[in-house]
Amino acid sequence: MQSRPAITRFAPSPTGFLHVGGLRTALYSYLLAKQSGGTFLLRIEDTDRERYVPGGIQNILESLYWADIIPDEGVILADGEPSQIGDNGPYIQSEKLSVYKKYAEQLVADTHAYYCFCTSERLETVRNQRQADKLPPGYDGHCKTLASDEIADRLAKGERHVIRLAMPEDGETTFTDLIRGDVTFKNADVDDQVLLKSDGYPTYHLAVVVDDHDMGITHIVRGEEWISSTPKHITLYRCFGWDIPEFAHLPLLLNSDKSKLSKRQGDVAVLDYKMKGYLPEALVNFVAFLGWNPGTEQEIFALDELVAAFSLEKVGKAGAVFNIEKLDWYNKEYLKQKSPGALAVYLDEYMPEGIKVSPKYSLDYLEKLAPTLVERISKGSDLIELDVNGELAYFFARTEYDGDNLIWKTLKDTPEGKQTTHTHLTKAAELINGIDEATYTHETIKSAIWSYAEETGNRGSVLWPMRYALSGRDKSPDPFVLAELLGKEETLARLDTAIARLA
Ligand code: GLU
Repeated sequence: MQSRPAITRFAPSPTGFLHVGGLRTALYSYLLAKQSGGTFLLRIEDTDRERYVPGGIQNILESLYWADIIPDEGVILADGEPSQIGDNGPYIQSEKLSVYKKYAEQLVADTHAYYCFCTSERLETVRNQRQADKLPPGYDGHCKTLASDEIADRLAKGERHVIRLAMPEDGETTFTDLIRGDVTFKNADVDDQVLLKSDGYPTYHLAVVVDDHDMGITHIVRGEEWISSTPKHITLYRCFGWDIPEFAHLPLLLNSDKSKLSKRQGDVAVLDYKMKGYLPEALVNFVAFLGWNPGTEQEIFALDELVAAFSLEKVGKAGAVFNIEKLDWYNKEYLKQKSPGALAVYLDEYMPEGIKVSPKYSLDYLEKLAPTLVERISKGSDLIELDVNGELAYFFARTEYDGDNLIWKTLKDTPEGKQTTHTHLTKAAELINGIDEATYTHETIKSAIWSYAEETGNRGSVLWPMRYALSGRDKSPDPFVLAELLGKEETLARLDTAIARLA
């Protein structure tokens, strides 16, 4: 538990779809805020206009709201549209340009930053030279020592320029990361970062520090890729004389081959998981475990349980492997918790069109089928594969099958195989026919058939053809469950068809 209320933020750039890595960052930030009675804020970092994707903000919001990670402050959805609430706005960086400019100029006035007039050609030459000299990439400080009248003159002429941070040349910058402990960078290795670009936009580095300060952020939770930017940010906090928030850099997400999970692979977008039939509770529970574990055996955590159990101390440093089979396992567990009625509505959404046109298709019938179907899938989109494999259609209509397959394996190539199977199926039909509609359930069907099957001394020779007659497939639910699901009339009709084929 945090002692003082944490004010956390998720600060994505609208450069495409929200991916699962972003969802994890948002979730951990949300959990920290909620468990301490604090505030979770959403800010949009859209100062990189070249990477801006229209609709990106909407996608981020829809993904977060679907996952039930709702911001208390900042950019929110109101009546389905992005909107802003809170006293520390604007929460979209492109709406705040004059503020960043003022801060950048203040840094110049205080000699913590300087104007840089270098052309892109010169920067290119510097880059190549540093590479040749085996120096870390970075600016060579050329404009740091320009005389003040030259600067005034070039500014007056309207020469294109940026503002750069004057990183201290000596010493080190150390911070204590809540996940990694003390992290130290040599200042000489840290670039004189551009803070304000020639188009008047701030870079991420200036905007993130100004905003985290303005918005009172106490804990910055973000991906590991930002760790090398942190000394620049700490330097900025010190230049401004502001309190430095806590930092927690989350471990990388990895594919099962340990390569970095890429958002460019396309299949990591949160809403793609929704489309495939993953439940938000399952995805959130799964994502929570990418780097964190509670230190107990418990794996299923509802969002409020995560709020209570989460702690940054239990987040590891090592990359977290994104194991899709585990996500499937979570999804199935959450599907099994749903009522048959809710499952029917869920299954209906993903049911292949070819199945939906069957006269037998209805929500009532789906409700009956739900437990059986959920055993066979982990997510809605698996219904398509089930159908392609021929394991779905027989629930709704009679399907084609090879009559020879009705014969149980031990009888298959025997002279009496066909006749014996005919006899057993005829008897099974007779026994089923004797069950009253009102008490027709898999239990009563089983008790009617079981002793007969036992008496034959070869149970499979009765149960297999019965099951095959009902499904026409090698794989299907047990014959009693299937007979109940299909109903007495349909069961008898399918048995009769099979009996006729054996005659
Ligand atoms: N805008 C950055 C991103 O897209 C945020 C990094 C941070 O949280 O400081 O990930």
